[in-house]
Amino acid sequence: MTAVLALVLAGAVTVLAREIRKGSRVLASQQLKEKAATLGRLLDPVVTSVENQFRPIVNDSAVRRTLLTSHPDPRDVTSTRTLLSRLITANPASDSGAMAELRAADGRILMRVGDTSVDDSRRATSAVTTSPDSISIGSFFEVGGRVYYWARTPINQNGVRIGMLSSRGRINNQPDVEKNLSSLGGQEGTKFLYKNTDGSLWFTINGRPINPPVKPDTTGVIRTWSHPDVVSGERVVLYQGRSTTTPWSMVIELPVSKLSAGTTSIVRRFAILCAILLVLGAVAVWLITRRITAPLRRMTIAAEAMAKGDYTHRVAESGDYEIRRLGSSFNRMATEVEAANMGLKAAASSAERAQATAEEANAAKANFLAAMSHELRTPLNAIAGYVQLLEMGLRGPLNPEQEADLSRIKRSQEYLLGLIEQVLVFTQLEASQVSFNPEDVDVDTLMRDTETMIAPQIRARGLDYSYDSKEPELTVRADRAKTQQILLNLLTNGAKFTHPGGRLKATSEARNGSVFLKVSDTGSGIPQKMLSEIFEPFVQVDRKLNQPREGVGLGLTISRDLARAMGGDLLVESTEGVGSTFTLVLPRTS
Ligand code: ADP
Repeated sequence: MTAVLALVLAGAVTVLAREIRKGSRVLASQQLKEKAATLGRLLDPVVTSVENQFRPIVNDSAVRRTLLTSHPDPRDVTSTRTLLSRLITANPASDSGAMAELRAADGRILMRVGDTSVDDSRRATSAVTTSPDSISIGSFFEVGGRVYYWARTPINQNGVRIGMLSSRGRINNQPDVEKNLSSLGGQEGTKFLYKNTDGSLWFTINGRPINPPVKPDTTGVIRTWSHPDVVSGERVVLYQGRSTTTPWSMVIELPVSKLSAGTTSIVRRFAILCAILLVLGAVAVWLITRRITAPLRRMTIAAEAMAKGDYTHRVAESGDYEIRRLGSSFNRMATEVEAANMGLKAAASSAERAQATAEEANAAKANFLAAMSHELRTPLNAIAGYVQLLEMGLRGPLNPEQEADLSRIKRSQEYLLGLIEQVLVFTQLEASQVSFNPEDVDVDTLMRDTETMIAPQIRARGLDYSYDSKEPELTVRADRAKTQQILLNLLTNGAKFTHPGGRLKATSEARNGSVFLKVSDTGSGIPQKMLSEIFEPFVQVDRKLNQPREGVGLGLTISRDLARAMGGDLLVESTEGVGSTFTLVLPRTS
């Protein structure tokens, strides 16, 4: 995060620096332009100063007489020469190059004072723009590597020109001027130049002629030049201020790099400030993050402990408002979870206790029923034995009524015995006390054996029975005795609920790893709504019709429980008045 912040800040500083530099360049160039204009105007008073120097000469009577007379008085000539000499001494360039000149109205040179060795005959005339009745300052011109200029004024009398006064000055070394200008320019590296406003001559403050700047170009809003005579190896900006009274201009010149020198240090300082701010910001972010993440870390540890079942962990409810709130919510949640967990544990243990109690009760019931059935079986077997004795005539001959009664006693005894057997098995199944011995059972063999057992009943009912094996040598993985018990129950029911002369049919076939043993009859059938109920204990379709010897409604319950316990199932399809099909499904031997 800090790195991202640093990047963003660095980008912002760079963009800002560029903008500041650009802005400062524009500002600096604007300032230079104004300074140049001021400097240009500083040249204007030259005219006044020349006028002040010229005035005593122009108004002097001796000078006028000298001009008006063809043979002037030698005293007037001497006086005029003295005045002209003063003009030269007043000129700071009196060391050399300065010259004063008096001409007649027709242009003849009447007098020359000063340095007459400089031959400017070719340049002097063109250098002065003559004004008919006021002072004219001429353009700068160069002779022998030195820069000169002419100042000239007409001398009139009664509106008629009687002569012309001129003085030639030279621009020489002026270290003071350069120093003063530099302090005025302010910016280090600033150069000051003179030039004729028309650009015909460029020269330094010290009067050294130079070539004009070349290759102008515009970078952004700033115009730059190449000016090797002033700044070598770098482009420059230059601004000129023209004088309004002379044909001269002042030029301020500065390397482009110096234009925004001041702002570079500002930008540098700004960048350092940003870096410091960034470090401080990073530290602050780290501290704040720590303040937030430390409680979150503690909460994570507590939550992990809770996930492992330890609900005793709590977190400190301190820190900022939000964190404090989160902490207290977490603690509340932990307390509630702990309480809920304790409740759950209590409920689970009481459920366990209840289950154990129920199992105990079930076992007691099973034991009771087992004991009961055992106790009941003994007298019932005794009854069967005595009935048999009587039937055999061992207690004397029986009349037909006695035989009929004995037969009823025998059926009741068998019914009771069967009932007891079924209740016992049912109870054992409920208590999961029935054990199974799974083995590979040959389906055809099992069917034939069961057939033998049921055959008397089928014959007695006069039914048409058949067994159809679709796949010979088919085997199931099941308990042989239990499977036979189920088949026997199905066949018995089929025989019981099919009218004499009806059909009873068994089939076997294999499909998808299972074996389907079907027992179909053309009996009374079962009402649709009873199809699921007949598997419930003690349910019979029409109890009134079922006499005690006909069963108690446990056969199908036991059969389906046994089938399911062996990994199979018992299903029924039936149409009332048409017949029923019971299907025993068992896993095929793999
Ligand atoms: P039980 O035969 O001792 O009554 P079951 O559990 O074997 O007990 O059968 C329950 C009831 O289902 C029977 O009383 C009978 O009403 C009905 N039932 C069973 N098999 C058939 C069948 N093949 N045809 C018609 N009804 C049947």
